[in-house]
Order: sequence, then C-alpha cells, then structure tokens
Amino acid sequence: MNILVINCGSSSLKFQLIDAKTETLTAKGLCERIGIDGSQITFSPAGREKIVRQAPMADHKEAIQYVIRALTDPDTGVVKSLDEIGAVGHRIVHGGENFSQATRITPEVKQAIRDCVALAPLHNPANLIGIEACEAIMPGVPMVAVFDTAFHQTMPPEAYLYAIPYRYYQQYRIRRYGFHGTSHDYVSHRAAELLHRPYDDLKMIVCHLGNGASVSAVKNGKCVDTSMGLTPLEGLIMGTRSGDLDPAIIEFIANQENKSIDEIMTILNKESGVLGLSDGLSSDFRDLENGSEEGARALKAFALRTAKYIGAYAAEMNGVDVICFTAGVGENNVSVRETICRDYLGYLGVRIDPEANRKRGEEIEITTPDSKTKILVIPTNEELAIARQTYALVKE
Ligand code: AMP
Repeated sequence: MNILVINCGSSSLKFQLIDAKTETLTAKGLCERIGIDGSQITFSPAGREKIVRQAPMADHKEAIQYVIRALTDPDTGVVKSLDEIGAVGHRIVHGGENFSQATRITPEVKQAIRDCVALAPLHNPANLIGIEACEAIMPGVPMVAVFDTAFHQTMPPEAYLYAIPYRYYQQYRIRRYGFHGTSHDYVSHRAAELLHRPYDDLKMIVCHLGNGASVSAVKNGKCVDTSMGLTPLEGLIMGTRSGDLDPAIIEFIANQENKSIDEIMTILNKESGVLGLSDGLSSDFRDLENGSEEGARALKAFALRTAKYIGAYAAEMNGVDVICFTAGVGENNVSVRETICRDYLGYLGVRIDPEANRKRGEEIEITTPDSKTKILVIPTNEELAIARQTYALVKE
C-alpha cells in the first residue's frame, strides 16, 4: 500500500509517497511559496532526475492538486491514479494532552487539533488546512494524524509541570509538551534494534540536533523527559532560537529598548540561537566552522548546553546505556559530536572511536567496544515513521 505523507507549513507543503510494505520511497517533493508570488513544485521520483516547475498555487488545496498531478503524470509520475494511494499520514505539530499516539482523522480529531491552535499558532492551522485540502481532493481515502507531541505524553507530572501557580496548568494546560516526537520515537527504537536489546530494557538519551534541536530521555520504553516545552523555544540552543534563558531578560529588553512582547518573542525565535551568539554570522552550522571567533563561540555554547542536558537526563534516569545523535547537525557535524563526547562525557565512560566519528549521515556506533556508554549516530526518518504509523492504523 502506498502512503502519502504530508507535512504542511504555513506557505509550504512537503510530501513523500512511501510503499508501506517494502518501506521504500517512491517519490518525494516540495511545494513552496503557496499563496505567494513565484510558487513552485519540486518533484523527485526515486532514482530519477528531480523536476522543478513554476506552478501558481493560491492555497494548499491547489498545492495538493499539483502533488496529485505530479504523482500520476503519465510520463513522469509514479502511480497510474489516485486509487493507488491507500492512505494519507499528516504530520501534526501539537496534539496537546489529547493524543498519545497516531489516530484516524475524524471530525472530532480535527476539532481537537483546532483546540490546540493557541499552543501552536503557526503550525496547527497549516496542518488543518492540509488535512482539509486532502479530504476535498481524495474523498474516501483514510487520513491519519501523527503528532509531534505524542511520544512525550508518557512524561510524569514532575517532568512536565512548570513551577508556576498550578492553576495555570489546570486552566490553560501550560506544561511541557515536547516536540520532534516522531524523530525521538524512531531513533530510540532503531537504537534498541541496532544494539539487539529489548526497547523497554534500556536507558537512552536521544539528541535531535538540527535547526530545531531537542533532547529526550527514554527509560524502559517510555519518554520520561524532553527539553522543548510548551513551545519549541525551550531547551537547547538552536539555529535561531535561544532555548533556555532567564525569563526576566524579556522584561529587561522590553524596558531598555521599548519593545513589545511580540517583538521580543520574534528576537528569541528568529534572531537568537547560534545566529545570535555568532553576532549574525549564520544559523547554519556549516558556516560557523569558518575559523572565526564568532563561529567558535556559538559552537562551544551549543556543545555545552547539549552536554548539560545529557548530564541532567543521565542523572534523572540514574544512568544511561546509549546516547544517540540525529538530525542535520547530529548526523553530519563531526566536531560538534567530538566536543560533546570528549569534553563532557568522560565521566560516563564514553570512549570515542575517532575513525568512526569521521563518518557523516550513516547509522554507526562511534564509541570503541570498551566504551561504558555507547554513542550511536542514527539518521532520523520522520516520514518513514509517519508512514509506518499510518499503515498500522489503516491496514485492517
Ligand atoms: P535539520 O534542521 O535537521 O535539517 O538540520 C539543519 C542543520 O544541519 C544546519 O545547521 C546544517 O548546517 C546542518 N547540516 C546539514 N548537513 C550537514 C553536513 N553535511 N555537514 C555539517 N552540517 C550539516
């Protein structure tokens, strides 16, 4: 069965068509600048040249129409008709406390996603538009919602509650939710497979280090803590997000520069992180390795913050068997991995194999056989995880 995986942003739509039985990618692509001048679709059928076409898309419904046209094109497509698409899996950013696993989309599920809009004002509306566009164009095809927050719903209250008046949790559900759940889920399961150990018998720390970055602690098969919070702003230093800071800084900047909360939130989300630390050099980790003082300062702070979370989660789980690195930086940035492991993880008995650590973008153990704690690099595959969860729900 072919599963169409859809990841809708406010002006973009990423898609993959995956054969769920063989778990192979049939095609993938991206619609960009939806609703803006100059929209285009990039379509990459597996093993063939990618095709880029200018395509006027006023909204996400038109974008989905282009996706279906690309997939079914008699010359360059990969399926004969829509009938060959068995189900659609939608990546949904925020499921609040309502969803601890993937679910078939019903009117009630859409309402529950709508109820979470206040928690993810940029993402959930776009995700809903994607669902409704697919429903309109593919009536009768089962739709599944896979939530970024679901994997972290197993956290205990002492991990998810903030130390603010409890009524804020009761009234507004202000708590830590965590994100990148599909990636943490996929990578932690893959780690157990690679180690030939039962999933529920391991203490794991997963470091998803990309433009967005988060760490999770997975103990005996359950996520027990994660670094992102009510929103993806908390935790690690990221490409442009600050991660943890003293909340009083917000008041301080507001007073000094006469800025509104909205303006400061934009600074913390878009102008901070390694971009801010490097004094505007770049949010892309490749650019930070240019030998400059600014780049080095950002990279050192990034490594330290990540190591602090690893240390906290090792303490929280009373030990750790395996630490996994994933996402753009975690999979590819050799020196970030080396700094974290060499400078901060010696007390866990970590011994890095420098040869193995030089590899990029492949599944590999980068510790020596006598290393007490294992370090694995595992490329994440959120789309495959979404396709798997979708298939599991619709195959009966
Ligand atoms: P992501 O958000 O997971 O796509 O990760 C984006 C980040 O990964 C960017 O900061 C890139 O610099 C980094 N990245 C991606 N590919 C590479 C690579 N081959 N070498 C070093 N860093 C990379």
